[in-house]
Formats: sequence, C-alpha cells, structure tokens
Amino acid sequence: MSNADNQFSMRDPRTQYPQPDFEKQPQSAPGLAKDMTPQPDHGESSYKGFGRLDGRRALITGADSGIGRAVAIAFAREGADVALNYLESEEADARQVVKLVEDAGRKAIALPGDIGNEAFCKQLVSESVKKLGGLDILVNVAGKQTYVEEIADLTTEQLEATFRTNVFAMFWLCKAALPHLPPGATIINTTSIQSYQPSPGLLDYASTKAAITAFTHAFAKQVISKGVRVNAVAPGPVWTPLQPSGGQPQEKVEKFGSEAPMKRPGQPAELAPIYVLLASQESSFVTGEVYGVTGGNHLP
Ligand code: NAD
Ligand code: MG
Repeated sequence: MSNADNQFSMRDPRTQYPQPDFEKQPQSAPGLAKDMTPQPDHGESSYKGFGRLDGRRALITGADSGIGRAVAIAFAREGADVALNYLESEEADARQVVKLVEDAGRKAIALPGDIGNEAFCKQLVSESVKKLGGLDILVNVAGKQTYVEEIADLTTEQLEATFRTNVFAMFWLCKAALPHLPPGATIINTTSIQSYQPSPGLLDYASTKAAITAFTHAFAKQVISKGVRVNAVAPGPVWTPLQPSGGQPQEKVEKFGSEAPMKRPGQPAELAPIYVLLASQESSFVTGEVYGVTGGNHLP
C-alpha cells in the first residue's frame, strides 16, 4: 500500500493484501504481532478518522494485537479515549498501541491482566471508568483458540480456560460495565464464523463462539430497555498471532485464508471499520446483530 492510501482508496480486494502460501511461524500462545511474517496491517499507516466517536470512552480487551489493536487505532483516530487490556506477556505489542493512540491525540490507559478471573474483570471496568471518567463503549475482543485434532486430547483444563477467556469474561465484563453505561452506549462482542461453520479441530473454541452469538442476541434484547445497544462481529480468517500460536496447526498457517472465496486472510485493518460503525451513533437502529467479515464464506 502506498502512503497515500487509506481505507477508502479503491483497489482490487483480492490482491489488496498478502495471499498464501505463508511461512510456518510457530509461537507460544498468546503470541506477538511483532514476530509475524508478513507483518499484519492494523491500519497504522492507513486508517483515517472523521470524529465518528468524538469524546467517547472505550474499553477494549485484546487490544495489544490483531483485531483489538486495529480497533484501538481506529477508535482513537475517530476521537475516542481508550483503556487497553491484554496479558502481561504482551507488553511489547501493547506499548506500540499505546503510542499509536497517543499519537492520535487521545488518552491510552494500559490495564494488563487475565480476564479469565472475575475479580480482575470487575477491577478492569472500575479502573477504566475511573481513569477515563466514565464508559461509553465496551469491546470484547480477547479470545483463546487452541487447535486439538481429537476430543481424547482436549483436556478439561483447556476446555475451562477457553470458556473462561471467551465466554465467562464477556459475561463478567458486560455485567460490571452495564451500571456505568449511559443511553447511547454500545457493546461489541467478537464471535466468529466458527459459530456457524465450526471446524472439527476447534470443538471448544467453536462452542464458545456459538455462546457469544447467543449471548449477544439475548443481551441486546435485555438492555435496550436502558438505551444500550449490543452487537457482534463474526470474522473469518484474519492474519493475527492467534493463528500461528496454536490456533491452527502450522500446515494450515501456511495455507491460511486459501479456503475463503477471496483466497486470502483478512487483515485486522479490514475489521476495524465495522467496529467503528457498530460503536457509533450511525448504527442507532442496529442491535442484536452479527456482522460477518469473512472474505466470502458468509454467515447462514
Ligand atoms: P490476537 O491474538 O491478536 O488477539 C487475541 C487477544 O486475546 C490477545 O492479544 C490477548 O491479549 C487476549 N487474551 C487471550 N487470553 C487472554 C486472557 N486470559 N486475559 C486477557 N486477554 C487475553 O488475535 P485476534 O485474531 O485478533 O483475536 C481477536 C478476536 O477475534 C478473538 O476473540 C478471536 O476469537 C476472534 N477471531 C479471530 C479470527 C482470526 O482468524 N484471527 C477469526 C474469527 C474470530
Ligand atoms: Mg496479542
């Protein structure tokens, strides 16, 4: 991409970003964006904001890398202050995001910690509210995905960790955030195409994503009584550390995205505009929806 390009520049979407084959590149979970080849595009040099979230205060989980980083950059450039959650081992990635948010002239509050813990989730919300002066947007992006070929090898420990990170944390964060959210506030969850077209090696992960989808539909109907909207984004294959750090076997990382009609993985930068839309007042009549961003393997 040339420096003049932004998310509005017209291009052929098939060749806009790298296509497989990719190099094998094992990392241990949760992995780091800085160690990926090619480097993912989070919109660092391209995302152009227009004040669509002016003055909003957002908490984003998984904000150090991948989709969460792209959301943090876009939200900041649209005028929002952001609290960023991630795991302590991801500090190197998170530092880059803090700088990008500050370069956009917005406040970046770094709040590392494990969201698989209910007490931490409560603390994460209260610290965000305190340091941002309130909360208007909650974006649940953090997720755990570990590929296991057969159920015999899927341990109870992994099953529980995947549900804690992907489902329980969303529940705890929504519960803690709700009393702080004013009418007009929005919650955005991150489900997956796995909620609709589950892969055989992602039994636990796909189940958590189906739970996120159902939670989103139900919670939206519950909290519209407070003027709060709740939606979800369902990505297809996206080039992030989640995949080479155990989310897929390395042979699938090499071919990652080849099964999408677009014949490539999406880049985090291609997800951010949907999160911006769902967070902003532009989507005022949209709640309880799931938006697919899949490269062509549409939701049912
Ligand atoms: P990513 O690895 O960049 O982001 C996931 C983040 O989750 C990590 O950066 C980490 O900070 C956070 N995380 C994991 N466990 C945590 C814990 N216990 N406590 C706090 N934070 C924790 O990868 P990504 O692909 O951007 O993932 C973001 C979301 O997108 C996830 O919910 C994932 O399921 C979803 N998703 C990704 C894809 C894909 O192909 N990459 C496809 C569909 C859905
Ligand atoms: Mg990360």
